[in-house]
Amino acid sequence: MNPRLDISFEFFPPAAGPAEVGFWAALDRLAPLEPAFISLTYGAGGTTRERSDRTLRALLARGGVAPAGHLTCVGTPRNETDALARDWARAGLTRVVALRGDMPGLKAPYAPHPQGYRNAAELVAGLRRIAPFDISVAAYPECHPDSADLASDLDNLKRKFDAGADRALTQYFFDAETFLRFRDRAASAGIAAPLVPGILPIANFARISAFSARCGASIPAWLAARFEGLDADPETRALVAATTASELCQRLIAEGVTGFHFYTLNQAPLSLAVCRMLGLRPTLQEAA
Ligand code: FAD
Repeated sequence: MNPRLDISFEFFPPAAGPAEVGFWAALDRLAPLEPAFISLTYGAGGTTRERSDRTLRALLARGGVAPAGHLTCVGTPRNETDALARDWARAGLTRVVALRGDMPGLKAPYAPHPQGYRNAAELVAGLRRIAPFDISVAAYPECHPDSADLASDLDNLKRKFDAGADRALTQYFFDAETFLRFRDRAASAGIAAPLVPGILPIANFARISAFSARCGASIPAWLAARFEGLDADPETRALVAATTASELCQRLIAEGVTGFHFYTLNQAPLSLAVCRMLGLRPTLQEAA
């Protein structure tokens, strides 16, 4: 039996209609596992941001599991970012995931808004002046694509902690060794704050392969071999996905990891299956 694990689930804000119905249904299935928080991503601009804001306020109004609002710096002057954070705090938000963000569609190299926060470390410092938020930031076990090397990426992570971040949630990865080496290097660089592994149970291997190339997460050959030939077989794929993600988590638990951040892609079954394999059960009261 595993020790009590701290878990969190990441969702993206759904469009109105069936996606929204699916979002709330997935949330209702995962909430009884008592995550520390469920986090809601923040889009690159326009309607996606409005959707994040609307969904976050709906989560706050509903009560229950604590939401964490992702917030990015991209394309926004500081006063607007600060005003939104103040507004969220007034609405009852206590947790933020502070990010730099990327240019819309990843179509150009990152350029800060002339009056905006230049990076996540500056955003963390700004949020610390606004409210006593619990602040998570991003970390990259395989190095952020914009970073020259892992050493400078770790310097950047350290700046985020020095600015007041409470923990880092990592980009997803598929080899336990990738995270364990990263954790060792972070410790050597003097980082003592919690690094929470980001776990992505793979619902659609073809889609994840294409996306991973853009965000610097590598796909090991053994993983590609597991999913080979399953593109038209979603049922078998789901079984392979749940087994693969729970193996990864068990390996990390054996190395002392005590918490996970699950990328749910707004779907409950895979994360539920993995949590179950890790010994997590819904609380009786909410499951009744
Ligand atoms: P930062 O920590 O600011 O750094 C990004 C890169 O720039 C690093 O390589 C860093 O080394 C370099 N850098 C930063 N400052 C300096 C400096 N002063 N000097 C030199 N180099 C510097 N994106 C979204 O749009 N919305 C989301 O909701 C979202 N959620 C995410 C959640 C998680 C858990 C993760 C891991 C990522 C998420 N992202 C999201 C993606 C994220 O916005 C991108 O990966 C983005 O490119 C980097 O954001 P960051 O906060 O890590 O940036």
